[in-house]
Amino acid sequence: MSEPLLKYSPRETALSEPQLTKREFLKFSGAGFCLLSAAQIFGLPKTSQAQTAKKGLIKTKLSPFFTSLSGGEIQCDLCPKRCRVSKGKRGACRVRENRDGNYYSLVYGNPCAVHLDPIEKKPFFHVLPATTSFSVATVGCNFQCKFCQNWEISQASPEDVYSYDVSPEMIVKMAKEVGAHSVAYTYVEPTIFYEYMVDICQLAKKADLLNVYHSNGFINPEPLKNLCKVMDAANIDLKGFTEAFYRDLCSGELTPVLETLKTLKKEKVHLEITNLVIPTQNDDLSGIKEMCLWVKRELGADTPIHFSRFYPLYKLRSLPPTPVSTLEKARNTALSSGLEYVYIGNIPGHEGEHTFCPKCKKLLIQRIGYMIGENHLKGGKCKYCGKPIPGIWT
Ligand code: SF4
Repeated sequence: MSEPLLKYSPRETALSEPQLTKREFLKFSGAGFCLLSAAQIFGLPKTSQAQTAKKGLIKTKLSPFFTSLSGGEIQCDLCPKRCRVSKGKRGACRVRENRDGNYYSLVYGNPCAVHLDPIEKKPFFHVLPATTSFSVATVGCNFQCKFCQNWEISQASPEDVYSYDVSPEMIVKMAKEVGAHSVAYTYVEPTIFYEYMVDICQLAKKADLLNVYHSNGFINPEPLKNLCKVMDAANIDLKGFTEAFYRDLCSGELTPVLETLKTLKKEKVHLEITNLVIPTQNDDLSGIKEMCLWVKRELGADTPIHFSRFYPLYKLRSLPPTPVSTLEKARNTALSSGLEYVYIGNIPGHEGEHTFCPKCKKLLIQRIGYMIGENHLKGGKCKYCGKPIPGIWT
């Protein structure tokens, strides 16, 4: 008997589905909300139903980003960790291996998660609202965040997880079959399955699909510039605004992430930012203000930013969920710092989910969780005052 395609059900930054009472549901249905059916969100493409998950599936591809050192050792040049890896060993992300002095990806074409999601779940609020995104992930990550919401796959090795044999061609075929408008590289850090991602991106573009990714931004400049040629939109986690936060909670660094944000902006990839607000760890308002002022100065006031609610998971189970009031204070701080599109994530029904025109202040796009209600954009502009709204709208 075939395994289901979705052996593991991954999360984005948001955890909760919209919790609506019957009365709220009827109210918003009546208001013309576009509610994606369960079949649309979780329906599987026919092509995929014959797939059988296999534990420990490993498919290799030579990495274009490594330097040979003496004695068969190599240095990986894909991300700023720049792992030095001796023969037979793997890098810190666990999905790249030195085989006789050559460096290989071990996850080319073997995703462990393939989902059809609303694009709002990524989260992208300024990219084709109310469409679905065909979402793909393999195992592995170059960070070790103590608050990871997908640690079962991000902190695993290919041997530990059930995955599927799905070529880039098959991904694009399935995405078209289920009516997705985009392919999303997400759930774990997509940089670690770079070769697979880039090959899918190239085929997706030819098939008239957008490419979107949700990333920690921890990638070196050369592979990033190459990726920008085929990537349409990026949501980058700006997890905190101090090196200490990145070092102590993520085993990463802040500075390369800031460089990635600047490069994406310069290369004209549509950019949104997510900041997961964790009680006592990064919820200090002066730090949030500093971050927002940096975003405004370096990326522009029109960069959408999502303050997302933390839920206790993985190694930070002792902390409480983020209070709604903390997220509201973060949002107010961002707005008073001059940012124009500031969202609250994972509180379905909160006003902070809607898009408002920064000029005339009218409601432009109404949301509850992943549902879209009123949409008052016309040709990418506010229909009331004509202000252009940044994003990919058609
Ligand atoms: S991509 Fe993986 S192997 Fe390469 S430097 Fe980063 S963590 Fe190390």
